[in-house]
Amino acid sequence: MSNELNHQWILKKRPQGLLSEGDLEFRETPLPALEEGQCLIRILYIAMDPATRTWISESGGYLDPLPLGTPVMGVTIGRVEASKNPEIPEGMMVAGVGQWARYMIVGPDQITPTQTGALGALAPIDTSAGLEPPMYLHALGTSGATAYYGLVEVAGLARGDRVLVSGAAGSVGSLVSQIAKLKGAGKVVGIAGGNHKCGEAVRDYACDSCIDYKAESDLSAAIGREFPEGFDVYFDNVGGDVLEAAMDHMAKGARVAVCGMISQYNDAEGPPGPKNMWNLVANTARIEGFLVSDYFGKPECERAYGEIAQWLGEGKLNAKLDIREDFEHIPDVFNQLFTGGNDGRLVVKVPE
Ligand code: NAP
Repeated sequence: MSNELNHQWILKKRPQGLLSEGDLEFRETPLPALEEGQCLIRILYIAMDPATRTWISESGGYLDPLPLGTPVMGVTIGRVEASKNPEIPEGMMVAGVGQWARYMIVGPDQITPTQTGALGALAPIDTSAGLEPPMYLHALGTSGATAYYGLVEVAGLARGDRVLVSGAAGSVGSLVSQIAKLKGAGKVVGIAGGNHKCGEAVRDYACDSCIDYKAESDLSAAIGREFPEGFDVYFDNVGGDVLEAAMDHMAKGARVAVCGMISQYNDAEGPPGPKNMWNLVANTARIEGFLVSDYFGKPECERAYGEIAQWLGEGKLNAKLDIREDFEHIPDVFNQLFTGGNDGRLVVKVPE
């Protein structure tokens, strides 16, 4: 491996808004020799996660901000190419927080020999079921765990619940609507941008109907038409105006699971908070944020993956991948998360 070169995407400066020229640098470096305890990971697929935008910002979101001059972090699938760690064999497939790079070297504290992933650690994945590896970034990875955790554990989905989900044609949202139906929800309504995505939400992702937020002049009224008596669960991927519009229509005892706020990751300031917080009191409702990293490694998470794997095997769950081969243009691919240019779990395949 000593002659092999690495290619890494390095954070050069904090972006303002979408990623633009000069924010990141595509750097070619020689691969250093492995030290005792280290492994060389060949990164095969990199998921484009909206959270990466918060990690590279000044505030860092829920993590320390990524230092300038270091490789951008992302959720990845990789293969152990060389190992000086007796517990980690060559050829093992791993998933977890890695880098926007062709290779990364990890120490013993960054890789676990058992399937108990935690934020910041790579963990083995069992690919014996024959599913394509990027599925471990989607339904059998962070998106699946996020959808299940937020809907079933945080929102406490009950049979017959009326469910609203934003980002309904996206990676997490498309799983939320389907899991809701598989778990016996009543009416499930999506919110997505444009005809194509709303069509998918209904046809492919089990929504009973879908509101095109880009076409609606009054989103709150549109939600009210779908839920004249209010909804029981709102799974929010978007925040901002969409969250505020949804909070006009909480049924008594409604639960709002706040998964993400993609509408504001590119804004330094963020929008003002919802004006209608009183509705929480008036409807004895609950709003709760969550991070999937709190779920990883727990028995509940393993059980959720088991259920998801069964649904996939039975053809009951549709997990669409949007795989791009643009490793050398990752910033452009990443930006599509924020312009709605992705259609399913957005993943970059790193060329061999
Ligand atoms: P995704 O939904 O596959 O892709 C992002 C989608 O967001 C875009 O396709 C776009 O869809 C929509 N969007 C972008 N800007 C928007 C805006 N201003 N208003 C409304 N919609 C907008 O991405 P994902 O990976 O599944 O992530 C979805 C959300 O889950 C994100 O907020 C992410 O941060 C969050 N998340 C949270 C956790 C956690 O642990 N809490 C874990 C994973 C993901 P349209 O074309 O429909 O506009």
